[in-house]
Amino acid sequence: MLLGAPGSGKGTQAEMITRHFGIPVTSPGAILRREKDLGTPLGIETAEITQRGDLVPDKIIVELIEDWLRLHGSHGFVFDGFPRTLPQAESLLSILTRLRTALDLAIWLEVSEETVRARISGRLQCRSCGFTTSVTSAKFAERSVCPYCDGPLVRRNDDDVSVLQTRLREFATKTQPLADFYGKMSILRRIDGNRDRETVFAEISRLIEDKVPA
Ligand code: AMP
Repeated sequence: MLLGAPGSGKGTQAEMITRHFGIPVTSPGAILRREKDLGTPLGIETAEITQRGDLVPDKIIVELIEDWLRLHGSHGFVFDGFPRTLPQAESLLSILTRLRTALDLAIWLEVSEETVRARISGRLQCRSCGFTTSVTSAKFAERSVCPYCDGPLVRRNDDDVSVLQTRLREFATKTQPLADFYGKMSILRRIDGNRDRETVFAEISRLIEDKVPA
């Protein structure tokens, strides 16, 4: 699983892991954005919360993850942005026990507040597939379409300076305690997420290769 502050690179690294290792990834944030775009009851119910930068109730998120794991989790999985609270982490352990599987790694992407602010203020995301890039990336500046699926590259509505304050506070109060939780399980690995995506990915790949049988 990938843990870290908003803008720490979880989504980017999750996507690189999937492309390189073929391990399926799930991200509650991406699921909720999709549900909102589709106008489903879940999307409508949670849109206001995500737009404010608050965390969605644990029960909703845990149900999403449990459903996803039953459908897609039998050959390994990567969580991007889950769990984000201690109750979510505890529920996940019971679900995994029921499904007779376990967690190998909790990767914590450490970033400075300066990195977070710079990334969030320039982030563009594909509305269709979730590919993330930056407005300063010359390659995409001319065409605001995704290089993978031709979907529209847009700014996320929670990537706003005032909403970011709330997201950072939620992270500090509710998600930070997970470092201790996974530290005690001896699966926590901290990575300097301030560096470019390829350097960070090379380090994550080494951690995964140590876990995945050749
Ligand atoms: P993300 O795309 O991971 O930055 O998530 C976007 C938003 O979705 C968050 O700010 C929360 O409102 C919501 N969200 C995503 N993952 C979770 C989670 N594990 N628990 C609660 N809310 C979540």
